[in-house]
Amino acid sequence: MSSATDIYAVSAPRLFDGQQTFFDHAVLVQDGRVLEIVPRESVPDTLTHHHEIGCTILPGLIDTHVHFMRWAGPQYLAFGVTTVRDTGNDLNWILERRAEWEKRPWPRILSLGPLIDGPTAAHPFVGISCNTLEDAVSAVRNICERGVDGIKCYVGVPSEWFSLIVDTAHTAGQKVSIHCSKAGVLPAARAGVDEFYHLDGVLANVWPDHPPGWLNLWGLSNFSKTYDRQQEVADIISGSGITATPTLAYWDSQSRIRTPASLGPDDLRCTPKAMRNWQYEHPDPAASDQWRRALEAAQRFVSLLIERNVPILAGSDIPCGLVPPGMSLWRELQLLVEAGTSPTQALRTATSDAADYLERPELGRLSPGTSADIVVVKGNPMEEIPSRPDIIKTIRTGVIYQPKDLLAETNWADFSLKDEPWADQFEQHWKNRGSPKPE
Ligand SMILES: [Zn+2]
Repeated sequence: MSSATDIYAVSAPRLFDGQQTFFDHAVLVQDGRVLEIVPRESVPDTLTHHHEIGCTILPGLIDTHVHFMRWAGPQYLAFGVTTVRDTGNDLNWILERRAEWEKRPWPRILSLGPLIDGPTAAHPFVGISCNTLEDAVSAVRNICERGVDGIKCYVGVPSEWFSLIVDTAHTAGQKVSIHCSKAGVLPAARAGVDEFYHLDGVLANVWPDHPPGWLNLWGLSNFSKTYDRQQEVADIISGSGITATPTLAYWDSQSRIRTPASLGPDDLRCTPKAMRNWQYEHPDPAASDQWRRALEAAQRFVSLLIERNVPILAGSDIPCGLVPPGMSLWRELQLLVEAGTSPTQALRTATSDAADYLERPELGRLSPGTSADIVVVKGNPMEEIPSRPDIIKTIRTGVIYQPKDLLAETNWADFSLKDEPWADQFEQHWKNRGSPKPE
């Protein structure tokens, strides 16, 4: 039974409730839920009251594109991320982690299950192969029956399969997200796919005879010649209602890992040594520059989507490029602002917009009855998204965490990566590309 003494208050000069900003307000928390938002002066003296000078209160952030690994859990919380959506993992493993998040210093976990792939799964430890459309449809049914939070299709799924996959998932009450196949994003948009990642598939539709390569091709000078076609594709995307999760932080990370000096010791302190080996890239200024130009081209394309009011979500694709989990989401917000959103709009992509897409009204907002997932950050992120956010506390389902405690816990150079599907996957890719090691 709860009593009034269980209630505590957190106040700050600014409080963003997921939609709008209040000044000098407090959030009252009881039993892991938000009880009320009230003016600071009306907080009863009898309550425990954390008044945070010079700070802003935000709803706990939602990273809509991660591949969860246990070492990353405390770091997400330390940077104010209280919910992550796993977009591809071993199904049994991720459902076990999802069942235990509340007992751990981790964010809440949502799961899209494994990567549903074509006949040869690109990432066999975290994906499943489907030889036929029938295989894919029964995989979608089985995964939905396990109670996932959506379905993810991967590059090998032929575009002719999309409609039936979408129908099957929608009938089971789940949305479909996609890392596009060679046919591009337009067939996915036409088939009613709900969301696409990494701006993947845009290249195929704007530059059908492009040279071999992937997102880095956006950094070639020829890519800018496709600008007129980019506008047409942005129009079609806009008309289809598909949501874009561009994961600009991923593009950024690919430039950074090829320029080792750009990774500070702070960034690497909490990353397991094995992860650093598996993601190691030899210094390559030309490739790094090409990724940087690719990011800029991607941001120009995102600005076309913003102009057309295409729904956009914030996802960071951690663990990629050795960017600290959680910090990566702030980086994503900064890159979205550079592409043309306001800081407040960027914060919505990681709070209320994400919750709306996920159909989780208890997340991403601070209002009576929502989950008490709260970030207290120094300064005013509605004016400028900080590059290194100074998080004073993170509250997850009413439990208060101090970032320095969470980061101390992750001070583990050799943290065990046993029983981690993505560790096995990273190791396999690393061996396949000749096990590059730092000189
Ligand atoms: Zn991903």
